[in-house]
Amino acid sequence: MDEVLRQLTYGLHVIGALDGKRPTGCIVNTVIQVTSSPQQVVLSINHKNFTSDCIKKLGLFSVSILSEGAIGDLIRRFGFSSGKDVNKFDGITFANTASGLPVLETGVCGWLECRVKSTTDLGSHALLVAEITGAKKLNSVNPMTYTYYHRVIKGGAPPNAPTFVEKPVISNKSGKHHICPLCGYEYDGSHGDFESLPENWSCPICGAAKATFEIE
Ligand code: FE
Repeated sequence: MDEVLRQLTYGLHVIGALDGKRPTGCIVNTVIQVTSSPQQVVLSINHKNFTSDCIKKLGLFSVSILSEGAIGDLIRRFGFSSGKDVNKFDGITFANTASGLPVLETGVCGWLECRVKSTTDLGSHALLVAEITGAKKLNSVNPMTYTYYHRVIKGGAPPNAPTFVEKPVISNKSGKHHICPLCGYEYDGSHGDFESLPENWSCPICGAAKATFEIE
């Protein structure tokens, strides 16, 4: 069933929220427009995400729509660390919506500002229906689809993602598979044998150390 579900298409987005005055955020693939009048989206977000707590308090979130040109640092920063522990917007350029929500303007196609209208508890995740209160189009570049992320960047889904699967479904040519235990990235041999990579080499998606890679 996992392989069938992986045929559903998604984008990849940085969800922005406010922890008091501090900006925070995380990466989510499940944002879709559900009505045009009024313009509304739904967002599915894991209760364990710190960003989720912040959205519940304020009832506002932003969606920065990642482009294919988004760099690995953005995915690592927002997808594989917690806003509880680190200030994810530290050291990067970002803008603010009219309501003060953080949004990215580099590596993205555009952003939305959204106000939560209703919340449904899905168990592991909350499903938020939200009205769009602001938007900005930035670049005429391709948005990063989930398929592009998996096939070209060879990224995986963290355990908090609604589409997480236990084992990544990635085709491989031959030999051993070297798989990141954190994000599911599989080393593709583009820099030579895995064994010959320097010891300080780390996962290009999430930054996990070489020594933690699983061999299958
Ligand atoms: Fe990784």
